[in-house]
Amino acid sequence: MSKFSEWFHKILEEAEIIDTRYPIKGMHVWLPEGFKIRKHTLKILKEILDQDHEEVLFPLLIPEDELAKEAIHVKGFEDEVYWVTHGGLTELNKKLALRPTSETAIYPMYSLWVRSHSDLPFKYYQVVNTFRYETKHTRPLIRVREITTFKEAHTVHADKEDAEKQVNEAVRIYKTFFDELGVPYVVTTRPEWDKFPGADYTVAFDTLLPDGKTLQIGTVHNLGQTFAKTFDITYETESGEHEYVYQTCYGLSDRIIASIIGVHGDEKGLCLPPAVAPLQVVIVPIIFKEGKEEVLSFCKDLEEKLKNQGNIRAYLDDRDIRAGKKFYEWEMRGVPLRIEVGPRDIQNGEMVVFSRYNLNKETVKFDSEKLVQDINNLLDDITGKMADKSWKSLNKNIRSVKSTDEALEQIKGNKGIISFNWCGESECGKDMEEKLRVDLLGVQYSSKEDEICANCGKPARKITLMAKTY
Ligand SMILES: [Zn+2]
Repeated sequence: MSKFSEWFHKILEEAEIIDTRYPIKGMHVWLPEGFKIRKHTLKILKEILDQDHEEVLFPLLIPEDELAKEAIHVKGFEDEVYWVTHGGLTELNKKLALRPTSETAIYPMYSLWVRSHSDLPFKYYQVVNTFRYETKHTRPLIRVREITTFKEAHTVHADKEDAEKQVNEAVRIYKTFFDELGVPYVVTTRPEWDKFPGADYTVAFDTLLPDGKTLQIGTVHNLGQTFAKTFDITYETESGEHEYVYQTCYGLSDRIIASIIGVHGDEKGLCLPPAVAPLQVVIVPIIFKEGKEEVLSFCKDLEEKLKNQGNIRAYLDDRDIRAGKKFYEWEMRGVPLRIEVGPRDIQNGEMVVFSRYNLNKETVKFDSEKLVQDINNLLDDITGKMADKSWKSLNKNIRSVKSTDEALEQIKGNKGIISFNWCGESECGKDMEEKLRVDLLGVQYSSKEDEICANCGKPARKITLMAKTY
């Protein structure tokens, strides 16, 4: 296990995010703290999607014949499907699959729902659990057999251009979402051999974890008409003809939580962006024998004000234990802001604020009138600075190379992502993957005209990224 991997497991346990002791491999329990982070994260996502998507909920089970209908798609998932074969003691005459993803559950219904051009576009999404019998080493939130938080959107369009537009729109949605979490990303078009089974092409988001490996955190697929033809999804055009629709789908999983934890955390533990932190502010009274009551009642007022007037998730920690012990615990749990108040602070009209992300302590003026606004400003400032910090760290770890030898050297000496010119040929790309023992993430954009492929020397057409991946 790498150092990061050890750190990740330890923090999931210590901060009470996930309990991994459930007696099925790759299936875990969300604990209250973890569930709150998940809830706040989903709230942000749903607020963005709900602007022009509708939320729906499909059954977990998919009949075998529907799952098998799209040949390429089923080939991509056949090793990973869990099957329900019995109802009680009776063997079912049609096996039922636990959804590994929901195209084959949703599209037979789309075929019933889509009628006329005036029905389009359709933009539906759901947040559900999906099941995949992973044969690789499982890891909580990263590689699991029950994905507990699978957000999948499935859109239907009258023409190719509108579907293209939706792919770009989905990329914009995911950028907005990850920006709110301060999680940095690279966006690439996946190579042919790594696209979603059944898709025309796949655009993916990857972030970089501290051990130098990338984690795929979101994907957007242009499905073209493949599924429309398989599931007979047609619409009547204005002139009365019947045409197949164009489709897209895009998904996120529990890995969004893994990325928040992995990207922002440090040796002291979790470091949560205010938007998803179960507690945004913790108030620790600094108590001496003298003036104890005054300090406690001052802190109580502070808590009430932040909660009631500011709608800030604040908590007064008045437990009868040493302040140092409280600091340690809240730092480990990643609370973005800590306020300390002692008798002298009250006298001086001040308070001490501590920012978790940079471990910086400062004394600020206490202004009762402006308190809520001051704290909100501090939280906003933290949000922005956390994003800056994580983007800097990602950009610092993308290195451009001119040859395979140089790439090899970089991979040995440094962690992170390699960027290079590529001819775009599958054979050459796979050859590089093998030589460097990394994965080709995909194409970022077109090369300048006079560049050559770092591997084979042919004219290059694409700037491409490679990394060790999860
Ligand atoms: Zn090449």
